[in-house]
Amino acid sequence: MTVAATSPHVMPTYGRIPIALERGQGCRVWDTDGKEYLDALAGIAVNTLGHNHPKLVPALQEQLTKLIHTSNYYHVPLQEQLAALLTERAGMTNVFFCSTGLEANEGAIKIARKYGIDKGIAQPQIVVYDHAFHGRSFATMSATANPKVRNGFGALLDGFIRVSPNDYTALEEATEGNPNIVAVMMEPIQGEGGLHPMRKEYLQQVRALCDAKGWLLILDEVQAGMGRTGKWFAHQWAGITPDVMTLAKGLGSGVPIGAIVAHHAAATVLQAGNHGSTFGGNPLAMRAGVETIRIMEEDGLIAHATEVGQYLKSQLQTHLGSLPGVLEVRGQGLLIGVELNQPCGALIGLAAEAGLLLSVTSDTVIRLAPPLILTTAEADEIVARLRPLVETFLAA
Ligand SMILES: *Cc1c(COP(=O)(O)O)cnc(C)c1O
Repeated sequence: MTVAATSPHVMPTYGRIPIALERGQGCRVWDTDGKEYLDALAGIAVNTLGHNHPKLVPALQEQLTKLIHTSNYYHVPLQEQLAALLTERAGMTNVFFCSTGLEANEGAIKIARKYGIDKGIAQPQIVVYDHAFHGRSFATMSATANPKVRNGFGALLDGFIRVSPNDYTALEEATEGNPNIVAVMMEPIQGEGGLHPMRKEYLQQVRALCDAKGWLLILDEVQAGMGRTGKWFAHQWAGITPDVMTLAKGLGSGVPIGAIVAHHAAATVLQAGNHGSTFGGNPLAMRAGVETIRIMEEDGLIAHATEVGQYLKSQLQTHLGSLPGVLEVRGQGLLIGVELNQPCGALIGLAAEAGLLLSVTSDTVIRLAPPLILTTAEADEIVARLRPLVETFLAA
């Protein structure tokens, strides 16, 4: 471990691997000792275009020379440009910009509660899910399921009802005759919860139920959105449209950005003074979003994510799927989980030693979320590095 790989003055909020990364190129990064890694994590589904992308970096450099930040006292044309790009692709109408995923979800929860209160529902309730992760602010950690995230901070926000994923009967029973429900909020693929997808039929049933009851369907696409699954947004595999969708991680290819995309009644709930953000929608972040979408389309990265994702998943199935102790290889596009029969957090460090960046989510699921520019040769390399690691780990 070098001096660069310690942080005595930074709060100890993360269990860090003792390496410090210095630069990147494409799907590779190098640490301060010059060691090379293949990046199969992309900063947790953030670096959509990998590192030092030849089209993104010059565009951001040009933006730096024009404006980094202004204020929402004034119009920001790039906000309108990015909002138009997002709403066209989502089939929705309006966007609020912020800087992170939790902020987008916090705003979505505010929309749902105000939507209810405006209708005369004094104590609005939102349906959320077992294993859900929506962030670490008070509202979003209250919507989150994991006790490690929720516990130790005193009273949480009330007004959440929790049900199990993919169980429509349970949802009906939990909400039966309850006049206070205003929304259902879920991740179309639960990311931190272990890469568990909501089934297509379930999403369609919930959409229909929300329509029948006048509830908002809020989809947290912070991790699964922005082309990662091979569609712009993961819910598009089910052919539905939410009322509110939240985005962040991959939207700016590494520049902090979040967005609430809405339509119908949800699009106009928040009025002047109800919500805002100093950094939200600043020109640098907006340019990163606009260029990310432009480059993804120019370079066909959504179709590519489907193809190389299928290839990576099938190779993982072939080379890891049959190992005793590997329970399942699952995922869509380039959001792939390999579930083991035991906690495997140690693999994050072991993989880094072997030159591979990945993460483990929900204790037992290896998460791969590489940049969408991953080549099939790099996919082969991921499998070649991962298989012996998992084999040795499971045999120990
Ligand atoms: C990462 C994540 C969040 C929180 O995003 P931050 O930018 O860390 O606040 C919320 N929801 C989902 C599904 C996520 O994956």
